[in-house]
Amino acid sequence: MPRAALGALLGLALAAQAAQAAAHASVAAAAAPAPAPVRAELEVRIDPDTRELTGRGTWVVAAGRPWRVTLDERFDVPRFLVDGKPGPAAPIPVDGLRAWRLPAATRARRIEIEWRGQLEALDATLDHRAVLAHAAPVSAPRGTFLPAAAHWHPVFDGAGLAYRIAIDVPEGQHAIVPGTPAGERTGGGRLVQSYAFEQPESAIDLMAGPYRVTQRSFVAADGRKIELRALLHPEITERGEGDLDAVERYLRQYEAWIGPYPYEAFSVVSSPTPTGFGMPTLTYLGVEVLRLPFIRDTSLGHEVLHNWWGNGVRPDYARGNWSEGLTTFMADYAYREQAGTEAAREMRLAWLRDFAALGSAADRPLAAFTSRTHGAEQVVGYHKAAMVFLMLRDAIGTGAFDRALRAFWREHRGGTASWNDLRAAFEAASKRDLGPYFAQWLDRAGAPSLRLAAATAVRDGTRWRVDVELTQSKPAYRLRVPLALQFEGGLEDTRWVDFEGERARFTLLADRRPEGIALDPQARVFRRLAPGEAPPILRQAMLDPATMTLLAGAAATGDSLARRLTEHPLRLHPMIATPPTQPLLLVGLAPEVDRYLARHDLPRRPTELNTAAGTATAWVWTTGRPGGAPLTVIAARDEAALAALARPLPHYGRQSWLVFDGSTAIARGVWPSRPQRVAFAAN
Ligand SMILES: [Zn+2]
Repeated sequence: MPRAALGALLGLALAAQAAQAAAHASVAAAAAPAPAPVRAELEVRIDPDTRELTGRGTWVVAAGRPWRVTLDERFDVPRFLVDGKPGPAAPIPVDGLRAWRLPAATRARRIEIEWRGQLEALDATLDHRAVLAHAAPVSAPRGTFLPAAAHWHPVFDGAGLAYRIAIDVPEGQHAIVPGTPAGERTGGGRLVQSYAFEQPESAIDLMAGPYRVTQRSFVAADGRKIELRALLHPEITERGEGDLDAVERYLRQYEAWIGPYPYEAFSVVSSPTPTGFGMPTLTYLGVEVLRLPFIRDTSLGHEVLHNWWGNGVRPDYARGNWSEGLTTFMADYAYREQAGTEAAREMRLAWLRDFAALGSAADRPLAAFTSRTHGAEQVVGYHKAAMVFLMLRDAIGTGAFDRALRAFWREHRGGTASWNDLRAAFEAASKRDLGPYFAQWLDRAGAPSLRLAAATAVRDGTRWRVDVELTQSKPAYRLRVPLALQFEGGLEDTRWVDFEGERARFTLLADRRPEGIALDPQARVFRRLAPGEAPPILRQAMLDPATMTLLAGAAATGDSLARRLTEHPLRLHPMIATPPTQPLLLVGLAPEVDRYLARHDLPRRPTELNTAAGTATAWVWTTGRPGGAPLTVIAARDEAALAALARPLPHYGRQSWLVFDGSTAIARGVWPSRPQRVAFAAN
């Protein structure tokens, strides 16, 4: 299977106000190590008005192995020649595909194929998930998207593809595929654009639309000229220069950090559907997605960086995907660090809260992560992985960390690399054995639970001696743990201790009287937060499969809302029974919800939600229960107000509470996180 695309912004345009919904997805399949790529020359003509596609091409395939050629059954194949002679007969389609088999030959063969057919109509209402699941070639004057996974051209399985393609579209349309622009010509009301590229995948992603083109060139760190383009729909053309300014800034930043940009071009391409894809040399983002302010500030940089990590060096998918974690660390997280220490802490804390919300049933070892299909995988594959890089940099220092990245890039650029290759690079740069470090974070599911079990401070001559006892869950991790000594005036002094067993005591010395000590208040260690450190958020009910759901009035609407919200099968709990001990999701009409909470002595609606009560139609909140399991409540004024939450609510997983007016969130918040801390008496 070819890789369809990397990078996605799930359903963003559906809830532009939900900035934290900038989730990033990737779809990937095994990369084929192919010493001899198939060489192809293709000509494709597309008419978005009639949705007709005609193509012809020649493929040169290596000797010594059989080949399988596949094509979507929607296309007719009037010509199929092998070395100038008629090839195998057009086969009966199976599972929507025609598949030809060519036995192994003693020398390279030249295959000529012509194909034609009608593309599907573009359905601009599809969200990103639907586009991913659908993978059909679609066309309309507003936009054409032929995903690699759609078999819109003959695909020779099991080898990379070195291609040159000429795409013929009506004037007014522009077309693009991954690769280097290789000329264009106009005539007869048509525009023909050519691209050349050599890629590890066997199929091509093609996009076209009524684009206005903004372009400039950029000189790479090694002196090559890189063509930068924005291919945007007319209504957002004016963004082009600003988007290219941002691309240029990201290219400079990553060239300085890692090494020269590996391709000859980069383009920002707009899509009529609210989707987000990243491919080598381009990113394909919905018109509405591009308008979201944080896209230029974060997602665009993330996509640019994937040209180094993910495309420039491909993960060895069979052995785990490190590229999303490293890209998240060097893009999303790095931008937060540039914004300030508090912004960076907020992101780390949000990641740890998400992990705490996950529940152990959905947790997987990082080494098992290959690509994201839902939120639970993002928590491990992106955020836990980014924290593994952060803790590593904290341990070996920024100098060694960055040297390792540059060496890794030099060594593996254009190839495939595994977590082991990354470890080797960090070991060489830091001159340390990092085997145990990577083993504990990659091969084990879960995370340590750290506790500040006890702490005392006593005067010791002119100084103060602080004795601290830490515990952690079994099996113990080898950790570097920051302990913050806190002094008058809000001053802190952080001391790192090496903690390996399940319990250990440490002595810290201070030259002033400390007021208290806190365990990892900056959230720099990947761990399962204690209940007070991890205030409940909506994501808990969304991700934890142990969650029980109760419907309190308007049951059909509540049921469909709950199904939309959760990523796991719904486990319904009867209203008449006593509340379960598991995490609980209570959905319904406000009077019924309030009665249920009162009858079972459960916490009532928090006062924070009353502040914006004027036009409120629905209230959503999370709270801890005396037993520990979280309670998530969705209460609406009436059935219509409940139904109005279906679109926006899934985008607010990071919130603890919200108030809605129809489908608009008019107030929201996260309950504060309280670090584990021991205060010292004043004497
Ligand atoms: Zn990504």
